[in-house]
Amino acid sequence: MQQCCALFLSLLLWLPTVQSIELPDIGDTSESVLSLAEENRLGAAFMRNLRGALSIAYDPEIESYITSLGERLTTNSNSQQRFTFFVVNDTSINAFAGPGGHIGINTGLIMTSETESELASVMAHEIAHVTQRHLARAFESASQSSVPTAAAIIAAIILASQDSQLGSAAIATALASSTQQRINFTRQNEKEADRLGMSLLASSNFDPQGMPSFFERLYRNSRGSESQSLEFLRTHPLTLSRVSDTRNRAAQYPAAKHYDQTNYQLIKTKLQVLSSSDSGQNIAHFRQQLEKASAQQQDIARYGYALSLAKAGKYEQAMTQIKMLIKQEPERVNYQITAANIAFSAGDLTHAATICEENLKIFPHHHALSSLYGMVLIKQGDAAKASALLHEHLRRHPSNPQLYKLLAQAEHLNNHLPASHEALAEHYYLMGLTHVGIEQLGIALDHTKPSDTSTTARITYRRSQMEKEVEEEKK
Ligand SMILES: [Zn+2]
Repeated sequence: MQQCCALFLSLLLWLPTVQSIELPDIGDTSESVLSLAEENRLGAAFMRNLRGALSIAYDPEIESYITSLGERLTTNSNSQQRFTFFVVNDTSINAFAGPGGHIGINTGLIMTSETESELASVMAHEIAHVTQRHLARAFESASQSSVPTAAAIIAAIILASQDSQLGSAAIATALASSTQQRINFTRQNEKEADRLGMSLLASSNFDPQGMPSFFERLYRNSRGSESQSLEFLRTHPLTLSRVSDTRNRAAQYPAAKHYDQTNYQLIKTKLQVLSSSDSGQNIAHFRQQLEKASAQQQDIARYGYALSLAKAGKYEQAMTQIKMLIKQEPERVNYQITAANIAFSAGDLTHAATICEENLKIFPHHHALSSLYGMVLIKQGDAAKASALLHEHLRRHPSNPQLYKLLAQAEHLNNHLPASHEALAEHYYLMGLTHVGIEQLGIALDHTKPSDTSTTARITYRRSQMEKEVEEEKK
């Protein structure tokens, strides 16, 4: 078991190769692997497993940020693959790529990075693994099992990286019902991902030096620190030659132009506030920052101060601070979202609705604004409008479990009980709780009039699909 864990772990970014293990050569798989459609199906199942087991950041502002950062890189990748980026609430320094272009980034990694280019360098490295189909061999061998089993195996691989105990238990379960999977993540693949990642970084107007500077810091940290979060770096150290390779390569690119990193700094600040439970200390910290910050850093400190005040329930003071930021820079959507959030929390629904409406005109379909507006409309009792908005928004974000939860609330308020339980069913399904989804569809059927044959048929069909997946999983 230990050996296969090590193999699985080698999938991780920071684990170059498990050299002591010789793998059988199963030939060049990149041609014969899963079709994109199959991989996407596997990817969706993988995500459901992950959502059930990991703490994923569903804050729409964080989701919006990481998605736009990822998209800035993928537009330059020439890949057919669709990508999904998400943040995992985990302090260990890690990032990973799963099937179907799903790329997860731990909060620990974001917080350890010091520039947006550093963060982007890791994401570019992961994107390169996906575009080069380095994971293909893993998917292919896993895909010889049923989709749910394969997805569980791959999710277990990731879990092992997040929490070694949880991971080995999950792997044991997953492997008990399948053949041992063989994954060969070679040093050559790592090199290739570094090289292509670097080129992606440069062509997306990030600083190519971000990769060597981040690698170097992690390398240095891995030497001295006793921190638990660096466990994996210590057992599978980033080599000096890898650091210097990226350093040499970065030197071949022209120096990056200066660009605005404010959104990156705002998101880091938000993560910092969200992760701390002591709001008094937070307020004091950011007030002090605000006093001593350079002109450039003033806005970031003020934003942190506003968030900390809001978290402590001091809405009026928080609003004063955020309004100062909006006055300076009204087009900064993060400030607008924060203002709407503060108004919402303070119970000033009219104000919150106005901010959302006004800004959705400027940023149509913005994920964070739309999600918040949906919540506001529900609180205002405007169920029909909330439901229409959420349906529309779900077309753009069909795998977002939180949107289904909101839709369920809107439909419940609207007294559309079958629709409410159907939406809840999708929420639980996406959260990896298919059996709860099936129960919810049963309740939806109970609320459906027998004369409504089309609704009955739709729910019955969806339930049979979920039941089939549960059956497959047992195999
Ligand atoms: Zn890698």
